[in-house]
Amino acid sequence: MSGAPLQLFNSLTRRLETFEPIHPGEARVYSCGPTVYNYQHVGNMRAYVFADTLGRVLSFKGYDLTHVINITDVGHLTSDADAGDDKMEKAAASQGKSAWDIARHYQQVFEADLARLNIRPTAHPRATDYVEGMIAWGKAIEDKHCYRLDSGLYFDVSTVPDYGRLARANTDEGEGRIDSVEGKRHAADFAIWRTTPQGENRQMEWDSPWGRGAPGWHIECSVMSAALLGHPFDIHTGGIDHREIHHPNEIAQNQAHSCGPDTGARVWMHNNFLVDRRGKMSKSSGDFLTLQALVDRGYHPLAYRLLCLQAHYRSELEFTWEGLSAALTRLKRMVLAAERLSNEADGATSHPMTEQLLGRFDEAISDDLNTALALTAFEDALSAKAGPAAQRAAVARMDEVLGLSLLDLARIDLRLRPSDASIDEAGIVEALARRKEARAARDFATSDAIRDELAAKGVEVMDGDPLGWDWKL
Ligand code: AMP
Ligand code: ZN
Repeated sequence: MSGAPLQLFNSLTRRLETFEPIHPGEARVYSCGPTVYNYQHVGNMRAYVFADTLGRVLSFKGYDLTHVINITDVGHLTSDADAGDDKMEKAAASQGKSAWDIARHYQQVFEADLARLNIRPTAHPRATDYVEGMIAWGKAIEDKHCYRLDSGLYFDVSTVPDYGRLARANTDEGEGRIDSVEGKRHAADFAIWRTTPQGENRQMEWDSPWGRGAPGWHIECSVMSAALLGHPFDIHTGGIDHREIHHPNEIAQNQAHSCGPDTGARVWMHNNFLVDRRGKMSKSSGDFLTLQALVDRGYHPLAYRLLCLQAHYRSELEFTWEGLSAALTRLKRMVLAAERLSNEADGATSHPMTEQLLGRFDEAISDDLNTALALTAFEDALSAKAGPAAQRAAVARMDEVLGLSLLDLARIDLRLRPSDASIDEAGIVEALARRKEARAARDFATSDAIRDELAAKGVEVMDGDPLGWDWKL
């Protein structure tokens, strides 16, 4: 395909490898999706910004992309192994809603967050729609690779070659922490099917040869990736926590099913964590930041995307409000530069200039997605003196890869003060009073409209400001 060869770090071999598609001209990517028992935090969203950027790079390179991000709406227990409660059922019990309602609600919020971050998978299948396939997969591997316990059907990890290679390649300790289930042959064995214990009521359950119950979490990704991408496919992504248990288990199931060494995906890629002062941001701690919380503090979602792109996906990224503010300022500068570029009169379109501007960007992005360096090439293209038409063409192509919507963002979106803004304090106070009323009546559409009206005048509404200011210029 075009430009520099695309080098990607494969966690399975711990090496940079030149991307070679399995199907000529195509790239097929599967990313483990969220468990929808709660809001996603911005750490989870980092995983999808990474996966989406990878997809965009593959498209930029000329591959026809299929990118699946699944929705885990059943099966994930409070421990990544098989102990603990089902996350969905537990949330249903504590929130007094049905597990199905919880799943649909948080799926919707997740999809809205994806859209706000310009993350665009080509499919987002729900695990509960693939249970039949999971049962069929279980039946196919049962005789050679599984054993029954009262609590379900378990996969015997000693039946596949080199179980846990992915985990061992990437950690000193080898396999991750495994919680025990009574009767398992090996600590690392895991459930393909969890039979509902007698006398217990589950909201999400299905009939199976192993009794009424629910699928294990790992089988979901094997089945959905095979159904939508076919095995083997090109690239599987997830956060680094998945290198320990979830992905080795997927690989074991895939090997069992193909009766050979087929690991399902050829390349396994993992993003590092978003951390804050207390460590890894996690849903189970209950104390985390959502994308909406950032928006509520006046940050455009794409400032968060830019924050992610400033770091390499394999490096830890520390979240701070100062860092996010700096990313927003950088985005504002880019928007202003793009605006200037749009207002400049066209000279002759210069194809070689566009290609020259793209060259450095392509090299950076092809080097295992060096987005930090690609961003500087992007800014250089914005400020170059190569002629507006050539620059605009280059900026548009780069923006397609970075997903910042730079040519569509308006100043008002980022709450930049237009030069002709007129300010009248009495008017501001009156508008704030109307906004307060609207908020009290939970009429958030009106309250947002007033906020935007004020922003157009260069006034930033300050909700929850620590100094108690309600607006600033
Ligand atoms: P989960 O819903 O817990 O399965 O997580 C969804 C995705 O987010 C997985 O790919 C996780 O590896 C990833 N993830 C979870 N926490 C973080 C974090 N703090 N930073 C980056 N990725 C994360
Ligand atoms: Zn998965």
